[in-house]
Amino acid sequence: MLKAVTRSLWLKSVAGIRMMSHHSPLSGKVAIVTGSTDGIGLAAAEALGRRGAHVVVSSRRQTNVDKAVSLLRSKNIKVTGTTCDVGNAEDREKLINMTVEQCGGVDILVNNAAMIQYIENILDSTEDVWDKIFGVNVKSQFLLTKLVVPYMEKRGGGSVVFVSSVAGYMPIQGLGVYSVSKTALLGLTRALAPDLAHSNIRVNSVAPGLIKTPFSSMLWENENLLNGFLKLINMKRIGKPEEIGGVIAFLCTDEASYVTGETFSATGGISCKL
Ligand code: NAP
Repeated sequence: MLKAVTRSLWLKSVAGIRMMSHHSPLSGKVAIVTGSTDGIGLAAAEALGRRGAHVVVSSRRQTNVDKAVSLLRSKNIKVTGTTCDVGNAEDREKLINMTVEQCGGVDILVNNAAMIQYIENILDSTEDVWDKIFGVNVKSQFLLTKLVVPYMEKRGGGSVVFVSSVAGYMPIQGLGVYSVSKTALLGLTRALAPDLAHSNIRVNSVAPGLIKTPFSSMLWENENLLNGFLKLINMKRIGKPEEIGGVIAFLCTDEASYVTGETFSATGGISCKL
């Protein structure tokens, strides 16, 4: 009888440990998500945190950082926050140094922050616009990745995720430069993956469709534009940030251990082909 009870307790505790590891596949990992005080970045931080990672959230404004930190803490997520404008070299270094000092290393980088500028006709875009948009959306993401690689190597590997867009496959009228910057991320993903595979660092992208966030409000607040989009979306609705956060988190877990150099589109069914 005693033997049966002991065995049953042992089985239950083993099952408990299995359940925990199933629910915390990122336990012990440190994840940096840029532009993570709202929208997709915040949802990605939450999804990574729910899987056990310690998340480092950041954006340009301290008030937004404070709000995101207390929101995530209220959900029992381990979180550290700081300001970082990804377009600024000093800020990028500060983000990485602070993460290493306070969290002991880096395992995951989600390059999410980006800028958008509406210009009716792409031929009216100036050199300054190209420099700014490519500076923030492409160059800064490469430079941040370069900064974290040595720290990921120290941990024996890691995972980098770029947030591209359906616009990278299908340029959106008025958002031409932005769209091309998102196409560049598809190339950057493929260019980095083979080099970083030697260091056991996987590099992938997510290409969200139209997601309800402040960033894309100009597309979903205008009824004509929204209806145009809905015609292309098999699921006939726009997406929620957490529907992208989950895909990003999946790509960072061992469930995706054989996936690198890929772009995972999450668009409700808009076809994504170059
Ligand atoms: P969002 O809800 O407007 O959130 C943007 C976040 O980034 C905020 O936390 C903002 O906070 C921060 N941020 C903005 N500029 C920054 C900078 N230079 N440096 C650091 N942080 C910055 O935007 P979102 O829709 O989630 O967009 C996130 C990513 O998803 C972008 O890469 C976007 O291109 C991509 N995406 C979005 C959609 C969509 O439909 N929403 C579709 C496809 C792809 P602060 O203001 O405090 O800096």
